Amino acid sequence: MTKKIILFIYICVCTCTLVAQEATTLPEGLRFEIHNDTLFVVSESEGGMPHHVVFQLVDRPNIYRRIYNDETDDLMEDHPADDIYKSIWTREHVNPYQLPIDSIQDSTVIDLSGFSLPVPGYITSKFGPRRYRYHYGVDLKLQTGDSVRSAFDGQVRIVGWDPRGYGHYVVIRHNNGLETVYGHLNTPLVDEDMRIYSGEVIGLGGNTGRSTGPHLHFEFRYLGNAFNPELIVDFTQGTLRDSTYLITKNGSFYHKMQAQHKASAGGNQGGSAKYYTVRKGDTLGAIARRNNTTIRKLCQLNGIKETTILRIGRKIRIR
Ligand SMILES: [Zn+2]
Repeated sequence: MTKKIILFIYICVCTCTLVAQEATTLPEGLRFEIHNDTLFVVSESEGGMPHHVVFQLVDRPNIYRRIYNDETDDLMEDHPADDIYKSIWTREHVNPYQLPIDSIQDSTVIDLSGFSLPVPGYITSKFGPRRYRYHYGVDLKLQTGDSVRSAFDGQVRIVGWDPRGYGHYVVIRHNNGLETVYGHLNTPLVDEDMRIYSGEVIGLGGNTGRSTGPHLHFEFRYLGNAFNPELIVDFTQGTLRDSTYLITKNGSFYHKMQAQHKASAGGNQGGSAKYYTVRKGDTLGAIARRNNTTIRKLCQLNGIKETTILRIGRKIRIR
Protein backbone atom coordinates (compact mmCIF):
# COMPACT_ATOMS: atom_id res chain seq x y z
CA MET A 1 0.00 0.00 0.00
CA THR A 2 2.67 2.50 1.06
CA LYS A 3 4.79 1.44 -1.92
CA LYS A 4 1.91 2.19 -4.26
CA ILE A 5 1.49 5.71 -2.84
CA ILE A 6 5.22 6.40 -3.13
CA LEU A 7 5.21 5.19 -6.73
CA PHE A 8 2.18 7.39 -7.50
CA ILE A 9 3.90 10.47 -6.02
CA TYR A 10 7.07 9.63 -7.94
CA ILE A 11 5.17 9.47 -11.25
CA CYS A 12 3.40 12.77 -10.45
CA VAL A 13 6.68 14.53 -9.72
CA CYS A 14 8.23 13.19 -12.93
CA THR A 15 5.24 14.29 -15.00
CA CYS A 16 5.26 17.74 -13.42
CA THR A 17 8.94 18.15 -14.09
CA LEU A 18 8.44 17.06 -17.66
CA VAL A 19 5.56 19.51 -18.17
CA ALA A 20 7.51 22.31 -16.53
CA GLN A 21 10.51 21.59 -18.72
CA GLU A 22 8.40 21.55 -21.85
CA ALA A 23 6.74 24.82 -20.97
CA THR A 24 10.02 26.61 -20.45
CA THR A 25 11.92 25.17 -23.38
CA LEU A 26 13.27 28.04 -25.47
CA PRO A 27 15.23 28.09 -28.69
CA GLU A 28 18.92 27.57 -28.13
CA GLY A 29 20.77 30.71 -27.13
CA LEU A 30 17.64 32.39 -25.83
CA ARG A 31 16.85 32.77 -22.15
CA PHE A 32 14.56 34.94 -20.13
CA GLU A 33 14.33 36.12 -16.56
CA ILE A 34 11.44 37.70 -14.74
CA HIS A 35 12.06 40.15 -11.93
CA ASN A 36 8.85 41.48 -10.44
CA ASP A 37 7.05 43.13 -13.36
CA THR A 38 9.98 43.08 -15.77
CA LEU A 39 10.81 40.40 -18.28
CA PHE A 40 14.35 40.27 -19.65
CA VAL A 41 14.91 38.33 -22.86
CA VAL A 42 18.53 37.64 -23.72
CA SER A 43 19.68 36.02 -26.91
CA GLU A 44 23.27 34.90 -27.16
CA SER A 45 24.21 34.71 -30.78
CA GLU A 46 27.29 32.72 -31.68
CA GLY A 47 30.44 34.77 -31.26
CA GLY A 48 28.48 37.97 -30.73
CA MET A 49 27.50 40.06 -27.74
CA PRO A 50 24.37 38.94 -25.91
CA HIS A 51 21.35 40.82 -27.18
CA HIS A 52 18.93 42.16 -24.56
CA VAL A 53 15.29 43.01 -24.95
CA VAL A 54 13.41 44.19 -21.89
CA PHE A 55 9.66 43.99 -21.46
CA GLN A 56 7.55 45.37 -18.67
CA LEU A 57 4.19 44.10 -17.44
CA VAL A 58 1.37 46.59 -18.04
CA ASP A 59 -1.83 46.94 -16.05
CA ARG A 60 -3.33 43.62 -17.07
CA PRO A 61 -2.07 40.05 -16.81
CA ASN A 62 0.27 38.67 -19.46
CA ILE A 63 0.63 41.87 -21.49
CA TYR A 64 4.21 43.08 -21.64
CA ARG A 65 5.44 46.19 -23.40
CA ARG A 66 8.94 46.36 -24.78
CA ILE A 67 10.93 49.09 -23.06
CA TYR A 68 14.46 48.48 -24.23
CA ASN A 69 16.24 46.73 -27.04
CA ASP A 70 20.00 47.22 -26.93
CA GLU A 71 20.63 46.19 -30.51
CA THR A 72 18.41 48.78 -32.14
CA ASP A 73 17.97 51.47 -29.51
CA ASP A 74 21.63 52.12 -28.78
CA LEU A 75 23.20 52.08 -32.18
CA MET A 76 21.09 54.19 -34.52
CA GLU A 77 21.33 57.94 -34.53
CA ASP A 78 19.49 58.87 -37.71
CA HIS A 79 15.75 58.70 -37.97
CA PRO A 80 14.13 56.69 -40.75
CA ALA A 81 13.94 58.36 -44.17
CA ASP A 82 15.78 61.45 -42.89
CA ASP A 83 16.65 62.44 -46.46
CA ILE A 84 12.98 62.66 -47.49
CA TYR A 85 11.96 64.41 -44.27
CA LYS A 86 14.91 66.83 -44.21
CA SER A 87 15.82 65.62 -40.71
CA ILE A 88 12.57 66.96 -39.26
CA TRP A 89 11.72 64.79 -36.27
CA THR A 90 9.20 66.19 -33.83
CA ARG A 91 6.41 64.84 -31.67
CA GLU A 92 4.39 68.06 -31.97
CA HIS A 93 2.12 67.31 -34.92
CA VAL A 94 0.96 64.41 -37.05
CA ASN A 95 1.89 66.61 -40.02
CA PRO A 96 4.68 69.01 -39.02
CA TYR A 97 6.11 69.25 -42.54
CA GLN A 98 3.77 71.79 -44.15
CA LEU A 99 4.83 70.43 -47.49
CA PRO A 100 2.01 70.15 -50.01
CA ILE A 101 2.45 67.13 -52.22
CA ASP A 102 2.46 69.42 -55.27
CA SER A 103 5.82 70.68 -54.13
CA ILE A 104 7.63 67.37 -54.55
CA GLN A 105 9.66 67.29 -57.70
CA ASP A 106 9.58 63.74 -58.92
CA SER A 107 7.65 60.61 -58.33
CA THR A 108 8.97 58.29 -55.65
CA VAL A 109 8.81 54.51 -55.54
CA ILE A 110 7.99 53.18 -52.08
CA ASP A 111 9.29 49.73 -51.24
CA LEU A 112 6.50 47.87 -49.44
CA SER A 113 8.46 44.74 -48.56
CA GLY A 114 8.06 43.44 -45.05
CA PHE A 115 4.49 44.71 -44.71
CA SER A 116 2.36 43.49 -41.78
CA LEU A 117 -1.37 43.94 -41.49
CA PRO A 118 -2.09 46.20 -38.46
CA VAL A 119 -5.26 44.27 -37.56
CA PRO A 120 -7.12 41.54 -39.44
CA GLY A 121 -10.47 43.38 -39.29
CA TYR A 122 -12.60 44.49 -42.22
CA ILE A 123 -13.16 48.15 -43.19
CA THR A 124 -16.06 49.85 -41.44
CA SER A 125 -15.41 53.33 -42.87
CA LYS A 126 -13.47 54.30 -45.96
CA PHE A 127 -11.00 57.10 -46.68
CA GLY A 128 -12.67 60.20 -48.09
CA PRO A 129 -15.09 63.05 -47.46
CA ARG A 130 -17.43 62.82 -44.51
CA ARG A 131 -20.23 64.98 -43.23
CA TYR A 132 -18.18 67.40 -41.15
CA ARG A 133 -14.56 66.56 -41.67
CA TYR A 134 -12.43 64.69 -44.13
CA HIS A 135 -11.64 61.09 -43.14
CA TYR A 136 -7.88 60.77 -43.54
CA GLY A 137 -7.72 56.99 -43.08
CA VAL A 138 -9.70 53.78 -42.98
CA ASP A 139 -11.48 52.35 -39.95
CA LEU A 140 -10.81 48.68 -39.28
CA LYS A 141 -12.98 46.53 -37.04
CA LEU A 142 -11.48 45.16 -33.84
CA GLN A 143 -12.40 44.25 -30.29
CA THR A 144 -11.05 46.33 -27.41
CA GLY A 145 -7.77 44.75 -26.30
CA ASP A 146 -6.89 43.26 -29.70
CA SER A 147 -3.26 43.60 -30.79
CA VAL A 148 -2.41 46.43 -33.19
CA ARG A 149 0.78 45.90 -35.18
CA SER A 150 3.23 48.15 -36.96
CA ALA A 151 2.84 48.00 -40.75
CA PHE A 152 6.60 48.15 -41.45
CA ASP A 153 9.92 48.49 -39.66
CA GLY A 154 10.42 51.99 -38.35
CA GLN A 155 10.64 54.33 -35.40
CA VAL A 156 7.89 55.71 -33.19
CA ARG A 157 7.58 59.48 -33.70
CA ILE A 158 4.50 60.23 -31.58
CA VAL A 159 2.65 58.51 -28.77
CA GLY A 160 -0.17 60.99 -28.34
CA TRP A 161 -3.50 61.73 -26.69
CA ASP A 162 -6.17 63.62 -28.65
CA PRO A 163 -9.44 63.38 -26.69
CA ARG A 164 -11.56 65.00 -29.44
CA GLY A 165 -10.01 63.09 -32.33
CA TYR A 166 -7.57 60.21 -32.48
CA GLY A 167 -7.83 59.31 -28.78
CA HIS A 168 -4.69 57.44 -27.80
CA TYR A 169 -2.64 57.29 -30.98
CA VAL A 170 0.74 56.30 -32.33
CA VAL A 171 2.60 57.72 -35.35
CA ILE A 172 5.43 55.66 -36.82
CA ARG A 173 7.99 56.78 -39.43
CA HIS A 174 9.02 53.86 -41.58
CA ASN A 175 12.32 53.18 -43.27
CA ASN A 176 10.54 53.15 -46.65
CA GLY A 177 9.50 56.81 -46.29
CA LEU A 178 5.86 56.33 -45.32
CA GLU A 179 4.36 57.29 -42.00
CA THR A 180 1.44 55.42 -40.42
CA VAL A 181 -1.05 56.60 -37.82
CA TYR A 182 -2.92 54.26 -35.45
CA GLY A 183 -5.88 55.89 -33.66
CA HIS A 184 -8.42 55.15 -30.90
CA LEU A 185 -6.05 52.79 -29.09
CA ASN A 186 -6.98 51.56 -25.67
CA THR A 187 -3.35 51.15 -24.56
CA PRO A 188 -0.28 52.22 -26.52
CA LEU A 189 2.56 49.79 -25.76
CA VAL A 190 5.50 51.71 -27.21
CA ASP A 191 7.50 54.82 -26.38
CA GLU A 192 8.48 57.72 -28.58
CA ASP A 193 11.75 57.22 -30.47
CA MET A 194 11.57 53.45 -30.02
CA ARG A 195 12.72 51.37 -32.97
CA ILE A 196 9.93 49.07 -34.14
CA TYR A 197 9.83 45.91 -36.19
CA SER A 198 7.17 45.25 -38.79
CA GLY A 199 4.41 43.23 -37.15
CA GLU A 200 5.43 44.21 -33.64
CA VAL A 201 2.52 44.93 -31.31
CA ILE A 202 2.48 48.69 -30.74
CA GLY A 203 -0.71 48.87 -28.71
CA LEU A 204 -4.07 47.39 -27.87
CA GLY A 205 -7.06 48.53 -29.88
CA GLY A 206 -9.94 50.42 -28.33
CA ASN A 207 -12.54 53.13 -28.53
CA THR A 208 -10.81 56.28 -27.24
CA GLY A 209 -11.27 59.80 -28.65
CA ARG A 210 -13.88 60.60 -31.29
CA SER A 211 -15.08 57.04 -31.78
CA THR A 212 -18.42 55.28 -31.48
CA GLY A 213 -17.21 51.71 -31.15
CA PRO A 214 -13.96 49.76 -30.92
CA HIS A 215 -11.97 50.13 -34.14
CA LEU A 216 -8.56 51.06 -35.45
CA HIS A 217 -8.29 54.31 -37.39
CA PHE A 218 -5.38 53.66 -39.72
CA GLU A 219 -3.65 56.23 -41.98
CA PHE A 220 -0.89 56.17 -44.54
CA ARG A 221 0.94 59.48 -45.00
CA TYR A 222 3.80 60.64 -47.14
CA LEU A 223 5.48 63.90 -46.11
CA GLY A 224 2.46 64.48 -43.92
CA ASN A 225 -0.06 64.08 -46.74
CA ALA A 226 -2.65 61.38 -46.13
CA PHE A 227 -3.73 59.09 -48.95
CA ASN A 228 -6.10 56.18 -49.29
CA PRO A 229 -4.67 53.05 -47.58
CA GLU A 230 -6.75 50.90 -49.93
CA LEU A 231 -4.42 51.95 -52.75
CA ILE A 232 -1.72 49.93 -51.01
CA VAL A 233 -3.56 47.24 -49.05
CA ASP A 234 -6.43 44.99 -50.03
CA PHE A 235 -8.05 44.81 -46.61
CA THR A 236 -10.50 42.08 -47.60
CA GLN A 237 -7.59 39.77 -48.45
CA GLY A 238 -5.21 41.20 -45.87
CA THR A 239 -2.49 41.52 -48.51
CA LEU A 240 -0.58 44.17 -50.45
CA ARG A 241 -1.85 45.11 -53.89
CA ASP A 242 1.72 45.33 -55.19
CA SER A 243 5.27 45.11 -53.85
CA THR A 244 5.87 48.82 -54.48
CA TYR A 245 3.77 51.97 -54.55
CA LEU A 246 4.42 54.93 -56.78
CA ILE A 247 3.97 58.30 -55.08
CA THR A 248 3.34 61.12 -57.53
CA LYS A 249 2.20 64.63 -56.91
CA ASN A 250 -0.88 63.85 -58.97
CA GLY A 251 -1.65 60.85 -56.80
CA SER A 252 -4.77 60.43 -54.75
CA PHE A 253 -3.86 62.59 -51.83
CA TYR A 254 -6.65 63.88 -49.68
CA HIS A 255 -6.59 67.52 -50.77
CA LYS A 256 -6.71 66.46 -54.43
CA MET A 257 -9.59 64.11 -53.72
CA GLN A 258 -11.35 66.85 -51.83
CA ALA A 259 -10.92 69.30 -54.68
CA GLN A 260 -12.11 66.74 -57.23
CA HIS A 261 -15.05 65.90 -55.03
CA LYS A 262 -16.10 69.54 -54.79
CA ALA A 263 -15.61 70.16 -58.50
CA SER A 264 -17.41 67.07 -59.74
CA ALA A 265 -20.38 67.22 -57.44
CA GLY A 266 -20.68 70.89 -56.72
CA GLY A 267 -20.44 69.81 -53.12
CA ASN A 268 -23.80 68.08 -53.28
CA GLN A 269 -22.78 64.56 -52.33
CA GLY A 270 -23.65 62.61 -49.25
CA GLY A 271 -23.30 64.45 -46.00
CA SER A 272 -22.90 67.98 -47.33
CA ALA A 273 -26.57 68.31 -48.35
CA LYS A 274 -28.25 71.66 -47.58
CA TYR A 275 -31.93 72.50 -47.59
CA TYR A 276 -34.03 75.60 -48.00
CA THR A 277 -37.63 76.12 -46.90
CA VAL A 278 -39.79 77.76 -49.57
CA ARG A 279 -41.33 81.09 -48.55
CA LYS A 280 -44.12 83.18 -50.01
CA GLY A 281 -43.11 84.76 -53.31
CA ASP A 282 -40.13 82.44 -53.93
CA THR A 283 -39.35 81.24 -57.42
CA LEU A 284 -36.84 78.60 -58.44
CA GLY A 285 -34.80 81.30 -60.16
CA ALA A 286 -34.66 83.45 -57.03
CA ILE A 287 -33.76 80.49 -54.80
CA ALA A 288 -31.04 79.43 -57.22
CA ARG A 289 -29.57 82.97 -57.36
CA ARG A 290 -29.63 83.42 -53.61
CA ASN A 291 -27.92 80.08 -53.01
CA ASN A 292 -25.34 80.40 -55.70
CA THR A 293 -26.65 77.56 -57.83
CA THR A 294 -28.76 77.06 -60.98
CA ILE A 295 -32.37 76.15 -61.73
CA ARG A 296 -31.18 73.06 -63.55
CA LYS A 297 -29.21 71.87 -60.53
CA LEU A 298 -32.17 72.46 -58.22
CA CYS A 299 -34.41 70.43 -60.56
CA GLN A 300 -31.88 67.59 -60.64
CA LEU A 301 -31.42 67.54 -56.88
CA ASN A 302 -35.12 67.57 -56.10
CA GLY A 303 -36.51 65.60 -59.04
CA ILE A 304 -38.71 68.48 -60.13
CA LYS A 305 -39.30 70.47 -63.35
CA GLU A 306 -38.82 74.17 -63.94
CA THR A 307 -42.60 74.46 -64.11
CA THR A 308 -43.26 72.67 -60.80
CA ILE A 309 -45.21 74.89 -58.43
CA LEU A 310 -43.39 75.28 -55.12
CA ARG A 311 -45.64 74.92 -52.12
CA ILE A 312 -44.81 77.31 -49.26
CA GLY A 313 -43.06 75.45 -46.45
CA ARG A 314 -41.65 72.76 -48.77
CA LYS A 315 -38.03 71.92 -48.07
CA ILE A 316 -35.96 71.79 -51.21
CA ARG A 317 -32.42 70.65 -51.44
CA ILE A 318 -30.03 73.35 -52.62
CA ARG A 319 -26.75 71.42 -52.28
ZN1 LIG B 1 -11.31 56.79 -38.74
